[in-house]
Amino acid sequence: MANQISSAKEELNTPQHQVTKVSSFAEIRECALTSEKSLHATVTFKPGDIISTFGAKEILTEPSYLTLQLNEQEHILLTPEFLQYINHSCDPNVFLDTTNMVVTCLSQIEVGEEMTFFYPSTEWSMDQEFDCHCGTQGCLGQIQGAGHLHPDVLQTYQLSDYNWQFTTADARIKLKRLYPSIQS
Ligand SMILES: [Zn+2]
Repeated sequence: MANQISSAKEELNTPQHQVTKVSSFAEIRECALTSEKSLHATVTFKPGDIISTFGAKEILTEPSYLTLQLNEQEHILLTPEFLQYINHSCDPNVFLDTTNMVVTCLSQIEVGEEMTFFYPSTEWSMDQEFDCHCGTQGCLGQIQGAGHLHPDVLQTYQLSDYNWQFTTADARIKLKRLYPSIQS
């Protein structure tokens, strides 16, 4: 009985979200409690669907917490801008394909579901590493970028064509000079 009361209380305290419709297929939800934003589908998608195209609003030479890495020198700020609210998950349902500049669906997405992306699939060494709390079974914990993950882990993910080549011996030697923290 006591448990029932406390769970009812928790329900009352569930944080509300402010919803902003940003396109024909997505809305941003902002948590009233934490102000964290996330991008949610307003239509369903199935694996292989192209969800959106994207481009570069600006090209930077260094990564920031908002940029998407195209190659060793180019980090883009996304347009449409709302795509920056796609959060990381270790079990993502979308992929940002930097070769074709499209967002594709990796697994079935229902209406209201959050769209998530595996940040190391494009980022070699992130500007701001973080501890992941995605709660998925295979959560990797600390997320720093592809250069900090074992190739055996990386190959279980769909990756940027560019990053994929980072795992070849030549590229690793070259990148070790750029990013000294990489383990050989
Ligand atoms: Zn995780």
